[in-house]
Amino acid sequence: GQRSQAAERVVPSVCPYCGVGCQVDFRVRDDAIVEVTGRDGPSNLGRLCVKGRFGFDYVRHPERLTVPLVRREGAAKEPGDCVDLGQARGKFREASWEEAMARAAEGLRRVRDTRGPDALAGFGSAKGSNEEAYLFQKLVRTGFGTNNVDHCTRLCHAASVAALLEGIGSGAVTAPFTAAMEAEVIVVIGARPTENHPVAATFLKEAAARGAKLVVMDPRGTGLDRHATEVVRFAPGRDVPLLNAMLHVIIMEGLHDRQYVAAHLEDFEQLRSHVAALTPEAMAPICDVPAEQIRRVARLFARADRAMILWGMGISQSTHGTDNTRCLIALALLCGHVGRPGTGLHPLRGQNNVQGASDAGLIPMAFPDYHPTGEDAARARLEALWGARLDPRPGLTVVEIMGAMERGEIAGMYVMGENPAMSDPDLVHARAALAKLDHLVVQDLFLTETAALADVVLPASAWPEKDGTATNTNRQVQMGRAALPLPGQARQDLDIIVDLARRLGLDWSYTHPREVFAEMALAMPSLDHITWDRLLREDSVTYPCLGPDQPGQAIVFGDAFPTVTGRARLVPANLLDPAEMPDADFPFVLTTGRELEHWHTGAMTRRAGVLDALQPGPTASLAPEVLRRLGVAPGGRLRLSTRRGAVELSARADPDLPEGLVFMPFAYREAAANLLTNPQLDPFGKIPEFKYCAVRVEAV
Ligand code: SF4
Repeated sequence: GQRSQAAERVVPSVCPYCGVGCQVDFRVRDDAIVEVTGRDGPSNLGRLCVKGRFGFDYVRHPERLTVPLVRREGAAKEPGDCVDLGQARGKFREASWEEAMARAAEGLRRVRDTRGPDALAGFGSAKGSNEEAYLFQKLVRTGFGTNNVDHCTRLCHAASVAALLEGIGSGAVTAPFTAAMEAEVIVVIGARPTENHPVAATFLKEAAARGAKLVVMDPRGTGLDRHATEVVRFAPGRDVPLLNAMLHVIIMEGLHDRQYVAAHLEDFEQLRSHVAALTPEAMAPICDVPAEQIRRVARLFARADRAMILWGMGISQSTHGTDNTRCLIALALLCGHVGRPGTGLHPLRGQNNVQGASDAGLIPMAFPDYHPTGEDAARARLEALWGARLDPRPGLTVVEIMGAMERGEIAGMYVMGENPAMSDPDLVHARAALAKLDHLVVQDLFLTETAALADVVLPASAWPEKDGTATNTNRQVQMGRAALPLPGQARQDLDIIVDLARRLGLDWSYTHPREVFAEMALAMPSLDHITWDRLLREDSVTYPCLGPDQPGQAIVFGDAFPTVTGRARLVPANLLDPAEMPDADFPFVLTTGRELEHWHTGAMTRRAGVLDALQPGPTASLAPEVLRRLGVAPGGRLRLSTRRGAVELSARADPDLPEGLVFMPFAYREAAANLLTNPQLDPFGKIPEFKYCAVRVEAV
């Protein structure tokens, strides 16, 4: 149906879903997107997945917010509103922009002036542009006066970034995923790229078809398994014992690159003594992988001339996510598999702009370009640039902010494009905490589960309606262009942020994202030689970039690491249990994640016709044998309960799941997976354990 309508205009832009950052052409007719095709971008070479091709009709969905809303006098905020959005809508009335913005600003000012700046917090978005992320964090730091600003990176790769900053001095990838095309060995661990980074998966399959040895390590079977040389199915939550045993084999068999270790690494002896007793035979019963396979995979990886490791949230969404990542970093470094073609460390970033939003400072512990808030020189530079005093204390992270809200310590929030009432762990508490806020301002496309608890709801701009840059998982800064007009009274996100800042007393005059990008370039040396005009001409430039005529450095750290000594650190990882182990009452392990068709909390993809038709409702996946034992046929009803909540949903038989493991996607309001999940945090990355909690499964 879409293809039958000829386009009037073709607008080059970028896909707004995953971190692959595929370049697209929006084909537009009568101010509607009638077709999306892939462009020859550096991360997609014309390819697109089902979301990039068919996931755009959400922008004209009848539920799109087109007028500001304010809560009716006396309308109570109830956590149940997050489930019954129709009931929630009745608690709002339409308002003019002037009234809504005045109310939004007045409530935030009231909390700031009566309770102090730390009683405020902001959640920005990795689905917005770099310019929006930068302005959002600047508003929170200078207008609110607090560093309590974060976004969904905390729920995604925060542990990876913590370990990478600690080990190699940079939180970004050392090489693009396309470097896998030159690798001899590719390790994919804790990631399901065929579902979550589908176009990246095509490059991995292509590399395997050309002869690269693909090693897939995961507790669940994955779509890459049939392309793999080795499939390592390990026990959920037992990454560290498995990876430590591989480190043991490499070091004790002398397979590490001695010259590289001597020239580039610190703390080798410490790591050697840490893993000395962690033999494959000792670790095999813990991680449930045969010792011989551990040895075989370790040797394969270490003996390769060029090897690459890619990982996803199976590694990071864990109370030992930082430790998991430390092991991966150590594996690559010991063998010198960094800084050369066909090598590298690559955390597959989730959202389209989670890399850029983090770079731009949308995190509580660091200013733009990851300068810690306590770093005096960096803070002084920014204070001079911004003309404002900055707090040296790091702010609270996402889940810490929810805890502070529950305790009444945070009373006012500004949420742009995030949906913590679906995305945060232990939703019973998270929703109660949001409902308790004195003042909540939500800026979004739809009345999301979070907006249902707001005082003021501001109708925002969708990605195909805005100009702005986004930075993908490969460190490629790319230009997005507006293809559609805004519906109704909806406004550009950037304009709303600026309006709110002015009402909070800031003297801001930005009128276009290009002005914001120019200021970002002053604050962020990582953007050297990347300008708005250059991006308009070239569409994509990789950072770091060494000159205006240079394409940017795809592979980094060939000579030295951006640490104080120029060397990378090997950091040992301890063997720890997941925070909540199965027991007689809750005998299964629950893991959560995404499906190919649905993106995160479903606000966009569940309102995209093709995607919703392909995956219309929530399911819990279990091994077929387990379903048989429960007496439930596929499609039958199950009740899943944990110590935090319970949901009912349909059963799906999935032979990729081991018998003790249950999988649930987290995109569905009617059976929200995060009612069940454990809010326990990794102590370093402050990321919750979405990939492991104890659950009971019963037939309904
Ligand atoms: Fe969009 Fe990611 Fe699919 Fe590419 S792989 S089309 S960026 S969702």
